[in-house]
Amino acid sequence: MQLDSLYQEVILDHYKNPQNKQLKSDNDAQVHHVNPSCGDEVTLGVKLVGNLIESINWEGVGCSISQASTSILSDLLIGKTLEEAALISENFLHLMQSKGAEEGDPEVLEDAVAFAGVSKYPARIKCALLGWMAFKDASVQARNVEAK
Ligand code: ZN
Repeated sequence: MQLDSLYQEVILDHYKNPQNKQLKSDNDAQVHHVNPSCGDEVTLGVKLVGNLIESINWEGVGCSISQASTSILSDLLIGKTLEEAALISENFLHLMQSKGAEEGDPEVLEDAVAFAGVSKYPARIKCALLGWMAFKDASVQARNVEAK
């Protein structure tokens, strides 16, 4: 219970003080993703330098889970390589599909382990994954731009 309320605090903190929440104009790719079941929206941009994620910036509206998750992923993935980011994203997806059975590895996911409890609520999993799906989409497009 204590852990749950601590996690709640992490999520609310990112919701109130979102990181990297301002779209930039020089992104390699920018995508808009919507979660119709909750009304969450995220527009997310990615800028690469070679294989390195130089910037993840975003705008969004919606529930605290969707907005905090996007804030946390931007914090977590900026400065990582695309391969590292893909591994972290897979790890988070796995956690979200665990139906509450897993706690998540804080060494890999850092603040994103705060969403472990969300995996018990199927209706909210899409909220937690919205930003991550947007990042996946944007990073694939950005890599294609960077490769030209
Ligand atoms: Zn939501």
